[in-house]
Amino acid sequence: MAALVVLSSPGPYLRGLLRRCWGQLGGPSPPWAPALAIQTPTSLLGPVGGEVESDETPSFLDSIFWMAAPKSRRTIEVNRCRRRNPRNLIKIKRNIDVCPECGNLKQKHILCGYCYEKVKQETAAIRKQIRAQEGGPHKAPVVETVVLYEGEKPREKDEGKRIIERNRKRPSWFTLD
Ligand code: ZN
Repeated sequence: MAALVVLSSPGPYLRGLLRRCWGQLGGPSPPWAPALAIQTPTSLLGPVGGEVESDETPSFLDSIFWMAAPKSRRTIEVNRCRRRNPRNLIKIKRNIDVCPECGNLKQKHILCGYCYEKVKQETAAIRKQIRAQEGGPHKAPVVETVVLYEGEKPREKDEGKRIIERNRKRPSWFTLD
């Protein structure tokens, strides 16, 4: 682009020609005042308010998500009041009872954990015994299963039932029906 500097009004002939052309185009008023045209970089010709691309390398601070930070330090009294507020503390349980079977403490409406663990272990042992007697995998028998402990004999009503024998004393909680 070449720099064009118009220092004075155009000559009378040129002025008349331009005025006629402008009138044919429908312009409101002929802009015949002296004007200045300067070559500028194209980047300055872009919209002023819009996004202007800058050649600067982005700073690492631009990639940080800035969050609100406290303006002043909270005192230890304020912090302790917040941390030890009653709504933040563990509630005291008053529904604790003694298990009638084992004597351990348990919640009133919940199964005793110790007794449950004992039943789980005995069930696993019985399953192991079934596997040893019948061989795996476990089959679903059509007949009822009776578990007999040390020193127990099958009764008359146990005739025809599947009998699993355990070589230990019967647990107190596992009653014979
Ligand atoms: Zn218990």
